[in-house]
Amino acid sequence: MSNIISEQKTFFNSQKTKTITFRLQYLKALKNEILLKEQAVYDALQHDFKKSEFETFISEFGLVISQLNLAIKNLKKWSKPKRITPSILSFPSTDYIYKEPYGTVLIIAPWNYPFLLALEPLIMAIAAGNTVVLKPSELTKNTSQLLTDIIKNVFPDNYAVSIEGGIETSTELLAQKWDYIFFTGSVPVGKIIAQAAAKHVTPVTLELGGKSPCIIDDTVNLKLVAKRLVWGKFFNAGQTCIAPDYIIIKAKIKNDFIKLLKIEILKAYGENPKESADFPRIINTKNTVRLIKLLEDIDVIFGGDFDESENYVSPTLIDEPSLESEVMKHEIFGPILPILTYKTNEDIEHIISNFEKPLACYVFSNNKNFVKETLIKYSFGGGVINDTLIHFGNHKLPFGGVGASGMGAYHGKYGFDTFSHAKSIIKRGNWLDPSLRYTPYTKKLNLIKKLFKLFA
Ligand code: NAD
Repeated sequence: MSNIISEQKTFFNSQKTKTITFRLQYLKALKNEILLKEQAVYDALQHDFKKSEFETFISEFGLVISQLNLAIKNLKKWSKPKRITPSILSFPSTDYIYKEPYGTVLIIAPWNYPFLLALEPLIMAIAAGNTVVLKPSELTKNTSQLLTDIIKNVFPDNYAVSIEGGIETSTELLAQKWDYIFFTGSVPVGKIIAQAAAKHVTPVTLELGGKSPCIIDDTVNLKLVAKRLVWGKFFNAGQTCIAPDYIIIKAKIKNDFIKLLKIEILKAYGENPKESADFPRIINTKNTVRLIKLLEDIDVIFGGDFDESENYVSPTLIDEPSLESEVMKHEIFGPILPILTYKTNEDIEHIISNFEKPLACYVFSNNKNFVKETLIKYSFGGGVINDTLIHFGNHKLPFGGVGASGMGAYHGKYGFDTFSHAKSIIKRGNWLDPSLRYTPYTKKLNLIKKLFKLFA
């Protein structure tokens, strides 16, 4: 492992990755290789947790290809030194921001979108001119093996490599000195990553999770809300970092809404979701057992079926769990949807303030003031008004958490910027050299104060 890293450092120091044509050549090769492996990607995800081809395309394969297309198309523009308006105080000068790769980057990926969340950061790290060591998740063996093959077929190990393994491998990797660490995963592991990074003052992006609320008031078209919410909650069987974790709905419309939710779940997955080709499995037994335990001593009003031997948990609705119940203690990360109610805005505040800042928040309302107040009042990574999940899909929006849900952001150009150091440079003109800043300072202070007032 340390050999690979020192070889990557040597390769980075050779300056080869600083050339845009060099990076483009590899990004294009990566795209070709991934396109060749399209069916293998669907098969791997199907074997890992029965994810459908449709969901794999819209939430993994399609997004990876679009990020590659974006990087290939814009790389020259993104990496060009950007001219900045100079300060009159340094006249005459021309000022620039140079985008500089950090060097050798470590990317640690999770299992829930194992293809996308490994490759999207890798694409942007390579686009920005870094070398990469990727540690994919040990829980999605087929996808991780495929990622290793794809990367090996495109890159020499001293440029980009995938090292498979679990916690031990991750721990060993974290003991090395990196120039940047990009982590996607849970909050507890995020803290371990932050500590390892701090040891070498290594900059880090933490893409974590949290309990993302979904607030619904009584001004909405409930049928449409139910349809959009069922899609967003049960996509990937609820194993989505920005899945609505729980609902807070105006008390008087709760019963009507529950009826509609049940209808939409039946429409989406049929009487027996276990037989549905569109409903994935829980990633492993440990997580299946964790989810089954959340259903104990609680008011299950729909679903609640499970089959531990097949890692299956059905779409499930829970009525008014207490904030002290297990289901409300941690991020659920599965197809279980608790429904809480509110009468006043203070009730909403009471519930949300119970948790750390979440990665997402969803508000369904046609009341502009209510929406505006909610967006201003609560801190969260990002969100959607009148839908769920879809903010992830626009690469012009930075994606990331705040507080306990993470730090830093990426997607599209924000990803390129994340893996680049912004180097500020002033090129000073030599044809004029006012004496104002030089000693002796006698009688210059008043003039400098005036200039600061005008131009600083
Ligand atoms: P995880 O934290 O268990 O694992 C993530 C990665 O860290 C894996 O590669 C794993 O091998 C490694 N790891 C696990 N334990 C470690 C340890 N003790 N030391 C060092 N490395 C370790 O997360 P997960 O279960 O794979 O993913 C689920 C979590 O990820 C959820 O909390 C979810 O919200 C979050 N998530 C966040 C985003 C985002 O973009 N913000 C996206 C997907 C998932």
